[in-house]
Amino acid sequence: MKAIGIIGSGQMGAGIAQVSAQAGYHVYLSDVSMEIAERSKAGIAKQLARLVDKEKIEQQAAETALGRIEPIVQLDPMANADIIIEAATEREEIKRQIFAAASEVLGHQAILASNTSSISITRLAQSVKDPSRFVGVHFFNPVPLMGLVEVIRGLATSDQTAAMASDFAKAVGKTPVMAKDSPCFVVNRILLPMLNEAFFALGEGTASMEDIDRGVQLGLGHPMGPITLADLIGLDTLLEILRVLQNDFGDPKYRPAPILTKYVEAGWLGRKTGKGFYDYSGEVPVPTM
Ligand code: NAD
Repeated sequence: MKAIGIIGSGQMGAGIAQVSAQAGYHVYLSDVSMEIAERSKAGIAKQLARLVDKEKIEQQAAETALGRIEPIVQLDPMANADIIIEAATEREEIKRQIFAAASEVLGHQAILASNTSSISITRLAQSVKDPSRFVGVHFFNPVPLMGLVEVIRGLATSDQTAAMASDFAKAVGKTPVMAKDSPCFVVNRILLPMLNEAFFALGEGTASMEDIDRGVQLGLGHPMGPITLADLIGLDTLLEILRVLQNDFGDPKYRPAPILTKYVEAGWLGRKTGKGFYDYSGEVPVPTM
């Protein structure tokens, strides 16, 4: 039996659990309480039901996949897993505790991975028993829809571990790209300066936020404009990631645009708070400036 352990059953953990179960893995899905892990499984059931309604998968396939997901709290059953992926809150001290505990149950042939967006894999590896079997696997949101996984090698990650992570990504239907352990890896390192430049342009009055969005959609063929995308990701998250880029590279080119800082200070964090650069309280999003 192929098996995976997932620690942290939020939006990313649930997505990884869903695609793994659909790919035939038995999934041990853990969180800080059974209630949260069960709620996550219920959310996955809804996602699978939606796929059945849209005739993307058969009812039987949805039931089989759901049956493979086992909510847990204690990590012991993960001793059977081929891979354990941590997808918990983006705080280093939380992740370090998880890696120490997961190292105790990790099977001798298994690998341990983190889905972190920005924290150094080499630094996180200090909390694991065997850094050669530790690797970054960075999925994209929403996991069932996005085709990419960045595989990030820490300084001590072995060739075999990187190959196993890459094979796992392919097994769940994703395309892996290999990245060195550098701040924000590849995709966010490219995306964040683009979003930040859109914030500078907006703050300088170069164009309205609607025209910046329209311009990038029609001129670059992006499915969503940068201001709308920023509201979707969360402005606080973007500010944190820009600070990681600025601090870790020591390069002022990553300094966050003043308008981004101002919106975060106002608590206007994007869709999740009902207001970011756009106001989402009505049917149609309305620009806030
Ligand atoms: P989330 O807030 O939706 O979920 C985090 C989950 O971790 C929560 O259910 C929380 O209860 C759980 N958790 C906290 N401490 C725990 C512990 N000690 N043991 C077990 N579970 C614990 O967050 P998310 O958006 O799913 O992000 C998870 C990780 O994925 C983060 O590292 C984030 O940077 C990364 N990531 C997020 C995105 C995104 O777009 N949201 C994209 C790629 C990667």
